[in-house]
Amino acid sequence: MTRGVGGEATAFVATAGSGAPVVGLLAEYDALPGLSQVAGQAKRQVVAEGTPGHGCAHNLLGTASVAAAIAANRERVARKLPGTIQLFGTPAEEIGIGKTFMLRDGAFQHTDVVVAWHPDDQNRVTNRTRLAASAVNVEFFGRAAHAAASPWLGRSAVDALLLFDHAIALMREHIKPTARIHRVIRDGGSAPNIIADHSAGEYWVRDASGESVNEMLGRLRKAADGAALATETRAQVTLIFSLREPVPNDTLDGVLQRELDRVGAPRFDEADQRFARAMQKELGFEEAGLATAAMPYLRANGGTASSDIGEVSAAVPLAELNVATRPLGTAAHHWAQTTCAAHPVGYKGMVVAAKVLAASAVDLLVDPGLVKAARADLATQTKGKPYVSPLTPDARPVAPR
Ligand SMILES: [Zn+2]
Repeated sequence: MTRGVGGEATAFVATAGSGAPVVGLLAEYDALPGLSQVAGQAKRQVVAEGTPGHGCAHNLLGTASVAAAIAANRERVARKLPGTIQLFGTPAEEIGIGKTFMLRDGAFQHTDVVVAWHPDDQNRVTNRTRLAASAVNVEFFGRAAHAAASPWLGRSAVDALLLFDHAIALMREHIKPTARIHRVIRDGGSAPNIIADHSAGEYWVRDASGESVNEMLGRLRKAADGAALATETRAQVTLIFSLREPVPNDTLDGVLQRELDRVGAPRFDEADQRFARAMQKELGFEEAGLATAAMPYLRANGGTASSDIGEVSAAVPLAELNVATRPLGTAAHHWAQTTCAAHPVGYKGMVVAAKVLAASAVDLLVDPGLVKAARADLATQTKGKPYVSPLTPDARPVAPR
């Protein structure tokens, strides 16, 4: 096992077997700030105020992938199958950088195919819906002054940030319906009686394609320069992460769908369904309980959340599964997922995901034709262009403040 991959202390690659094909599985395990929640409660109840929680259920994600890798490897040994199983420990998905740094540093260079999953409210093979996303830190540098004694000497970085934010709000009318722009203010000055010489906001830009995201980033840079010009400050826009939309792979989708149909949806019992309906009632959602069937295959099926899985999919053929680990209609990045992440509802989904991934990995070891077809799909989708990292060679992974 190799640790510290991509300059990330908690990233690892574990390998078993040797030679081709090399089948990879992805284990995520990061949590989300502020989503602390008592497990198995149908209403909001924090464990400790201000602490993180598994609102994206990556605890289930990582555990299922580890289980799948071990199970597939046992099968490889028992049946004397050729090939290698690789398990990638991929941290920092929620800040969009974990896999991108591992990729840039060559962690996936010998991997032939990757199968992955994500907790969800549905059971399906997901494809063609995740958005490309880039995040930038937008800073303004002004001149400090006493806000009452000599404000004419100051140039406010907060003014610049507000003007810039207004420009972006106006820009939202003139972007595609598929695009999303959202932000938080990181530095809004220290005290009203000091003209702020620094301000900062973090802006995320998303759309169906990386091309469209880059076009919007160009417009965002113009807005920053415009706000700086108007307020006699200086703007600085720094890229935090860049994730492309996942490259679809019909061959691997077929492998996952076949195994999902064989394993079937999680078998939730009446207590699970009651718990789910109580949560839906609490949230004002339709009391539809939990998904009890696997969806048939659809082209373009899934949620719009971005992930650094998109980066991996442009370098290695990849397909992604969703398994129900929370009530229908509820979303990730919410206490509704945290409360199920350490509860039978989440555990049952996790076990189904582990079985489907393990069986799919074995299918790929057994049939070299599938691996070849999956690689041909990737070449078609990317027009044979090799993966190029959005990161500069000197970029280093940095944890958010
Ligand atoms: Zn997630």
